Amino acid sequence: MADDTIFHKIIRREIPADIVYEDEHLIAVRDISPQAPVHVLFVPKESFATLNDVPSSQAEVVGRLAVAAARYAKSEGFAEDGYRIVMNCNAHGGQTVFQIHLHLLAGAPLGHFGT
Ligand code: 5GP
Repeated sequence: MADDTIFHKIIRREIPADIVYEDEHLIAVRDISPQAPVHVLFVPKESFATLNDVPSSQAEVVGRLAVAAARYAKSEGFAEDGYRIVMNCNAHGGQTVFQIHLHLLAGAPLGHFGT
């Protein structure tokens, strides 16, 4: 079901998660399998399986995730050191959970993307 991913269950408090931020539009949780010292997922409360499913008329859904990630980086004190945000899409992008989410990775030099 489109609204029955692991992230929907976290939003509905049906499974536990380390929630670091929440507002009326989105939730931010620590990734269960972190790929960097800081690895937080920003998930909208609106349901979209992939980035392909977000219409132009709802572009703000994606924009809010990026702005929330930057705000979190500032509040945690690593914005100036820097960070990476990533959104995976479908098989070639490595997407495994089909509710859109933005990965925020930080806490160490991550290297040049793709190298
Ligand atoms: P994707 O591969 O779809 O871009 O990212 C899905 C992410 O969700 C992965 O980084 C994975 O570790 C994370 N994840 C999967 N199951 C859970 C869970 O139950 N809780 C949390 N917090 N993260 C999860």
